[in-house]
Order: sequence, then structure tokens, then C-alpha cells
Amino acid sequence: MSSHKEWLEEVTFQINKHKSNFTENEIKKYKLDRLLELSEKVAENSEYCVDCISFQPEILGIVDDVGYFTKRMTEAKVPAEVKRNYFKVIDKIYQHLERKHSVRIPGSSPKKKNQYIGAGIAIGVVIGIAIDNIGLGIAIGIALGAIAKKYKKVDE
Ligand SMILES: [Zn+2]
Repeated sequence: MSSHKEWLEEVTFQINKHKSNFTENEIKKYKLDRLLELSEKVAENSEYCVDCISFQPEILGIVDDVGYFTKRMTEAKVPAEVKRNYFKVIDKIYQHLERKHSVRIPGSSPKKKNQYIGAGIAIGVVIGIAIDNIGLGIAIGIALGAIAKKYKKVDE
């Protein structure tokens, strides 16, 4: 049995334990489901990616911090820095998975990108109607949105 799998089992256990103490809103606020998905992808890619392996202890670290995010767990105030770091690590890992492993997790993309993709889909539907193939039109639209995003990035 691979150690990556054992690591994932531990992380999954910890996150689910936190989820049982969190309200629906808190689960959303702290992106616990997303963290779970990211962890699965990290475990998958750890077979051949040293960066993903290095994320494993980091994820365990922030999962540990999660316990202090809800008042029911502790009366102590969580330093803002801890929360900032928590979201920073999630973003960093998501960006790595997206760039290096072409991972797409719905809802994980930064808002800005979604705007481009959203605009792309809107354009795609119009193209789709014109060429009588909505599916193909949307695919073209999303590609255009992605291109627009890339160019925008160069401009910035
Ligand atoms: Zn990786």
C-alpha cells in the first residue's frame, strides 16, 4: 500500500472530523470540500511529482489549524495570520495542480477567470446557434475565454 494513500486516508479522516463540528456555512467558508478534493489530487500526483509530495505535510498542517476556526472548538482567538496562511496554501496547491497536472476543480478557479469562461460560454452559445451545434459553439467560446484571459494576463 502506498504511503500516499495512507496520507490521504489520514487527511480525509481529519477533514471529515472537522466537518462534523462545522455548520454548513463554515464548511463552505473554509472550503473543506475543496481541500478534500485537492488532497485527493495531491495524493494521486505524488507518485511522480516532488512538489505534490512536499504539499502533504503542508496540508496536514493547515488541516490541523482548521480545528481552531470554529468557536465551538476553542475559545481562543485564531490569529488572522493563521487563517490567511490557510487560504494561501489552498490557493497555492490549486494553482500547482492546475498548471502542472491540468486539474480542474469546479468553483476553485479565481473569480476573474470564471468571468472570462462565463463570457466565453455566452459567446459560445451564440456561435453554437450560428453553426447549429451548441456543444461545439460552447467549446469554442470557452477556448476564446481562455485565450482572452491569457492575453489579459500579459497586459497586466
Ligand atoms: Zn504536483
